[in-house]
Amino acid sequence: MVKTDIQETLEATNGCPATCASPADCQGLDHCTAAAASVKRKTESGKIQSLLTSAVTEEEDEPQSKNFTSTRNACKLCTPLGACLAYRGVEGCSPFLHGGQGCSTYIRRYLISHFREPIDIASSNFHEDSAIFGGSKNFSLGALNITRQYQPQLIGAATTCLTETIGEDMAQLICDVKEKHGDAAAPIVHVSTASYRGTHIDGFHSAVRELVEQLAEKPEEKHSTSNEAKQPVALFPGMVSTADLRHLKEIFADFGLPFTLLPDYSESMDGATWSEYEKLQSGGTPIAAIRALGSAQATIEFGRTLVETKTGGMVLQTKFGIPRRLLGLPMGIRESDAFFNALTEIAGIETPVKYQRERGRLVDSLIDGHKYAFEKRAIVFGEEDLVIGLTALLCEIGVTPVLCASGGRSKQLEKCLRAAIPELPEETLVKEGYDFAEIAEAAPDLKPDFFIGSSKGFSIARRLKVPLIRVGFPIHDRIGGQRVLHLGYRGAQELFDRIINSLLEVKQETSPIGYSYL
Ligand code: SF4
Repeated sequence: MVKTDIQETLEATNGCPATCASPADCQGLDHCTAAAASVKRKTESGKIQSLLTSAVTEEEDEPQSKNFTSTRNACKLCTPLGACLAYRGVEGCSPFLHGGQGCSTYIRRYLISHFREPIDIASSNFHEDSAIFGGSKNFSLGALNITRQYQPQLIGAATTCLTETIGEDMAQLICDVKEKHGDAAAPIVHVSTASYRGTHIDGFHSAVRELVEQLAEKPEEKHSTSNEAKQPVALFPGMVSTADLRHLKEIFADFGLPFTLLPDYSESMDGATWSEYEKLQSGGTPIAAIRALGSAQATIEFGRTLVETKTGGMVLQTKFGIPRRLLGLPMGIRESDAFFNALTEIAGIETPVKYQRERGRLVDSLIDGHKYAFEKRAIVFGEEDLVIGLTALLCEIGVTPVLCASGGRSKQLEKCLRAAIPELPEETLVKEGYDFAEIAEAAPDLKPDFFIGSSKGFSIARRLKVPLIRVGFPIHDRIGGQRVLHLGYRGAQELFDRIINSLLEVKQETSPIGYSYL
């Protein structure tokens, strides 16, 4: 039906839905059933919208403009994904998503394509009725099924966007499972992971925090000074690669320091072949070690942006008075020095010669490769602390980071970047809450020589005909993404070699001469 001018005006000014065939049929707004129905619809949708908006903006005080554009191709991943990975870093822990089945399918697909290992993520399988009446039945049935099928020592539950939006009372649900089924269901740890309120990294840190909060116990008696030295150091590395986890364990062993690494998915997500299928892959931090964290001698936690976040390290500090050292991810020379210095202080010994030599070789190689890296321009993207670590390394090797972008919104990125790297140029754009569409819009004018980040940046790098150095998560267009080493002097060395070789490859490929000696 073509609306008349009068109907257009009425619709715009007083809410007339303009459903009459002609203005002559109008009975006035007070008697119009179509208008009443329209008002009801708008009120209902307004309630839902305000629910969603209040959830989204709970932690955001930026007003949204009328032309608000949602995220396009987010530079972050779903929050429960991080929680599931953290749970798989605990021995015998089965991840369990309370929500729709699609969430666990998506997360499994992402983790499998990066780690090239199978991972089962259970789902309580929400349907329309659970969304309306709550999913308590699904949750308790799911917990029983997981216990029967996997015999886990622990169920790591995380709540998806839908469950968070309907406000499921998880504490009550877990109590009900315990009361009704006792030992027939494995013990459950729960973390709240609304994806509209965070990133995969937030989910990861939150799951670690909840494991510590819900499992770590107060030490039975006050230890003497000599015993304290034998207590483990709690190490919370954040979401790093399996190669990084193995390297950290090697470093602690070389310092002779007992430690509890939480989480540790270096075996469960990157293990050897099996003679028989393992439903729940072996490896991970023993639950007994997490319980004993209340008597740790110190905590080392990676993540400069976590300064105001309640993390596992902060829980140990506030509950048990364990000193916490918050460090940047040890990437590049300066951040690695800070890590090795912290270990030297805690262990009371010098950095082992092996690492002093690694550092020396790294410095030597920076001199060798400087002429190739100097004044090259890079776009760095990914989770915020990884961006800080990468930017620190790039500045040390003479590369100018022209854009440092992350989908995270800690409100700490620029502050922490400039504190960690005082020489970072003023003109470097630092963007939080950025998506790949925004990176693609900004990139051509910035004229980067290369991108560094996950494989999700490939299409932009391809369009600009510059290399993408694949680091972080996810890397699902190459083999060995989980084995990329980022940390320590050795990690810096590997990244440096890859960066320089990519630049040399471009030089070689684009040269009309075809040099084989560069
Ligand atoms: S609905 Fe939310 S929890 Fe589920 S996959 Fe999407 S972002 Fe993740």
